[in-house]
This record gives sequence, C-alpha cells and structure tokens, in this order.
Amino acid sequence: MNLSKPLLSVVVPVYNEEAGLKNFHKDLCKILQKYYKNQTEIIYVNDGSRDNTAAVLKTLQDATYLQLTRNFGKEIATTAGIHAAKGQAILTLDGDGQHPVELIPEFVKKWQAGAKVVVGRRIANQKEGLIKRWGSKIFYASYGKVGGVRLTPGATDFRLIDQTVQQEFAKLTERNRITRGLIDWLGYPQTFIDFKAKPRLAGTASYSTRKLMKLAIDSTISLSLSPLYITAYIGALVLPVATLIGLTMLGNWALHDPLHFRATGTAYLSVLILFLIGLVLVSQGIIGLYLSHIHAETQNRPLYIIDSERSKGI
Ligand code: UDP
Ligand code: MG
Repeated sequence: MNLSKPLLSVVVPVYNEEAGLKNFHKDLCKILQKYYKNQTEIIYVNDGSRDNTAAVLKTLQDATYLQLTRNFGKEIATTAGIHAAKGQAILTLDGDGQHPVELIPEFVKKWQAGAKVVVGRRIANQKEGLIKRWGSKIFYASYGKVGGVRLTPGATDFRLIDQTVQQEFAKLTERNRITRGLIDWLGYPQTFIDFKAKPRLAGTASYSTRKLMKLAIDSTISLSLSPLYITAYIGALVLPVATLIGLTMLGNWALHDPLHFRATGTAYLSVLILFLIGLVLVSQGIIGLYLSHIHAETQNRPLYIIDSERSKGI
C-alpha cells in the first residue's frame, strides 16, 4: 500500500464505541476498497475511551490509530486526526455509523471537481430530543446574528477538506475550539452534500444536552466577540435615559415643580441608582473592549488566509 501520499485520509474520532466499531470499520473499508483500492488511510483517534475500544482498534485491519491519554473531547480528537493525516484530501466522520459512509464517493467527487471544503449538511433527525433540535436551531439562528462567522444550520463534522485547507487549519493554535467553526473561519468556499443522519450502530450519544450547551457557548466565545459588548450596549442605552430623566427632574425641582412631578425622595433615588447602574455597565463594556483585544491576540490566529489557487502571479 502506498501510504506516503494517499488520495484520501479518513479521520474518525471514537469514544466508547466498542460495540459498533467493528461493523462501522467493515462498512467503511467496503466502500473505500470498492472505489479507491489501496489509496486511502484510515486514522482512528481513540479519545480516551473507558471501554474496550482500544482493544477493538487493535484487531482492525488496515487501520491506524492514535491513542489520546485521556478524553479530550471530540473537537480536539478530530483535530489530532487532521494533524496526523497524510492524504491529499482529509475526510472526517463520526465512528458511530450516523454519517453514511456510502456518501464518501460523492464527497471525493466534489473535491476532485475542485471543491476545497465539502460539508455534509444534515437534514432532520427525528430521533433527537426536542431540546437538542430546538437548541441547535436557536444556536444557529442567534449565531448568524452575533457571530463573526456565519455557520450553516445543519452543517456537520462529516466533511472533507483539501490538504491546503489542512495546512492552514494546522496553524490555528487555540485550545477552546470547535473544528467545523474553525474550518468555516478559514473561509474557503464550501460545497454542501445533504444527508439524513442514521441511527447509531450501538451505544449512546456521548454528547449530553449539557455538553452541547457548553459546546455552543465555547464556540460562540471562540468565534465571536459580541457577547463582550452586550453590557456596553445595555449601558449605552440606560445611561443617557437616566441622565435625561435625572436632569429633567432636577430642573423641574429647581423651578419649583412647573411640570407637577411631585417627585418623592424615592423617585430621585431610583433615578440616581439607574444612572449609576448605567455607569457601571458602560465601564464593564469598556473592560470588555480591552478584553476582546487581548482575546483576539491570545488566539493567535493568522491575520489572513490566501487562497493560492485563486490568486494569480505570485
Ligand atoms: N466522540 C469523541 N470524544 C468525545 C465524544 C464523542 O471522540 O468526547 C466521538 C464519538 O465516538 C463519535 C463522534 O465523536 O464518533 C460523535 O459523537 P456522538 O455520537 O456522541 O455525538 P452526536 O452524534 O450526538 O453528535
Ligand atoms: Mg452520533
């Protein structure tokens, strides 16, 4: 097998998948053998599984695998696999059978036709709980508004990237990461393939609602600075209103109540407190601005990505 530069690397993060892994691998190999005989490598990343996944991995033919020392989470496991991949194109997919392996040839076809990023877009998953479905809907809807990067609803980690994208991806060093968000951030044009998620081969989804919410918050924070500005916006709203009311009340008091406010001490106090709260919010917002600069610097992202194929004469 020529593994120096395979056509395709398939990266599969696995966590506690002992029950379904063998079948998954069989299905995967069948497709890869049929279409790309010996031109592929399969990289499993065992994300610190607590079951016998490691033992199952040992028995798999034609598979390489990375063993992480502990459970680092799918995003980091996927990243490790993408870093290790040697192929001209790298395809990531879940190891639980939910991403249909039969579609792999379509991903490759789009890539061979020139696409740098091919993204599997999931349509409806009836088995998922209401919270998960609505949560993801709300997340994507709000994300489109507050985020700096527009995420596509339903876009999954079932995706293929060209090796040039992989090289740029490897330059991103931040810890708190969501792989698909970073690939989106890189900005290469994307081609989509719609698919229906299948039920898991075995086991249970390890992403609980709590974990998903954390992922949503993490990715919002890592890709967007807007949450830091929210208090500043509220403060900017409260402060002028409080100032206006306060000044009116003071003027009215000085002129012996021509507006007939008959304001009590409590009223004056309320306005004063409102004013001070506005002041605090604005100061917090200012701190937020500085923090956002520090945040951007520590993420240490490249300033820009050049799409060399679409550039000319350099
Ligand atoms: N996974 C992982 N590390 C984790 C959780 C999950 O590598 O901490 C893997 C898991 O084995 C599967 C993929 O990530 O191959 C998707 O996980 P899961 O099916 O639990 O999530 P969902 O289908 O709900 O997105
Ligand atoms: Mg799954």
